[in-house]
Amino acid sequence: MKRPTILVLGAGYGGLSTVVRLQKILGTDQADIVLINQNDYHYESTWLHEASAGTLSPEEVRYNISDVIDAQKVDFIQATVEGININDKVVTSSVGTHTYDYLVIGLGFEGETFGIPGLEEHALSIANVKAARHIREHMRSQFATWSVEEEKDDSRLTIVVGGAGFTGIEFLGELGNRVPEWCEEYDVPFEKVRVLCVEAAPMVLPGFDDELVTYAVNQLESKGIEFSIGTPVVEATEEGVKIKTGEDEFEFIKAGTVVWAAGVRGNRLIEETGIESNRARVRVDKDLRAPGHDDVFIVGDCAFMINEAIDRPYPPTAQIAMQQGDQCADNIVALLKGERTTDFVPDLKGSVCSLGSDDAIGDVMGRKLTGKKASFMKKMVDNRALYMIGGLGLTLKKGKFDVL
Ligand code: FAD
Ligand code: NAD
Repeated sequence: MKRPTILVLGAGYGGLSTVVRLQKILGTDQADIVLINQNDYHYESTWLHEASAGTLSPEEVRYNISDVIDAQKVDFIQATVEGININDKVVTSSVGTHTYDYLVIGLGFEGETFGIPGLEEHALSIANVKAARHIREHMRSQFATWSVEEEKDDSRLTIVVGGAGFTGIEFLGELGNRVPEWCEEYDVPFEKVRVLCVEAAPMVLPGFDDELVTYAVNQLESKGIEFSIGTPVVEATEEGVKIKTGEDEFEFIKAGTVVWAAGVRGNRLIEETGIESNRARVRVDKDLRAPGHDDVFIVGDCAFMINEAIDRPYPPTAQIAMQQGDQCADNIVALLKGERTTDFVPDLKGSVCSLGSDDAIGDVMGRKLTGKKASFMKKMVDNRALYMIGGLGLTLKKGKFDVL
């Protein structure tokens, strides 16, 4: 009898966790496991703010997929997925077509621009390794250009960060440490540089603990970072961004760099599948299957689930994506055995937000942490993600051990 094919799209936290668990449980004769990803590496999306600011190199935030998969059990195909036809059970990619018996969609997130004019064209987004490298090179090039210009355009040295959610704040934390270094390297007076965070909501890190937010804002402001709160970005141009400062009042901020970190959506390929979605996120059944499609599982940022205890959606996080990957693998194995699937219940440990590599805030298992303790915790969380997917070997190779 033909072995069933399990086709996994995306080697992010969700997809790769699914594959790693499947290869642990299944023997070579039980199923064909196929993984498609556009790169031959996995990147730690949760470290992309560090790569974007240049704290870590692109190399440091990624590892080869071949380091964590068992080639005897998993057929890895490096290709870009171009279409998903769930009716005919065929996926189209840059290298051909792929059929499946079970499909796992783990194609991750994209930056959400909410249709704001000019953002797609003029803002940079912390979306993947290549985009992170581009942001780093762009900012450094602005500093280098300013230093050789005869007629100096100081707006080159203005960096606007749109959004004071976790991504925006973590990126600002890195900039707080990097900007003084660039000033020295490119002979730029520190007071010429402006780093401004623009947030639409009336507070930084909306929904997070007030005391921890105050700590974060004070720490970032002490490094020269400015905040404009309750002032949504309404337009971006080649020159900078327009923000709404009052009922009918607007201000234009000229800036050489605009980094958009104001929210995420699922992968746009989801919207072409015919599966109902909102911002390319599918409200999955409790066992992670797409409603009405018993052979399609969705994990990570393309999946949407409600936390019934508080009647609010679970946030799209790596923490949840990895747990979903494990559960998805277990459910596929159950189906192969003719057994029932199990509901996914996230085990939330809390959140830690870095403020550079030496500072952070965290709310972990009911304990509030700041400073070095929180920073230590963040690095342990980062190392844990490596351990969960690649074991001790990968953790020792790529882990963060500058913990004191
Ligand atoms: P992703 O990690 O986005 O992976 C998707 C994969 O699919 C990638 O390998 C990509 O290359 C591949 N892919 C995409 N499109 C295609 C295609 N067409 N064809 C082939 N392959 C494709 N969460 C936390 O829990 N803790 C944190 O500390 C944290 N920090 C973060 C910091 C930053 C700067 C950012 C941006 C996010 C952070 N998050 C954090 C959120 C977390 O990164 C995401 O929730 C997580 O990456 C989602 O995992 P995923 O598996 O759904 O997708
Ligand atoms: P987010 O949705 O959490 O935050 C986006 C912020 O942008 C919000 O504060 C929002 O009010 C603001 N915003 C929206 N429109 C705006 C506008 N027009 N102008 C100015 N501001 C605007 O998005 P994120 O920070 O990218 O995070 C995405 C997901 O990744 C979240 O689930 C987050 O928890 C997770 N994440 C976690 C960590 C961590 O745990 N350390 C780090 C980064 C991201």
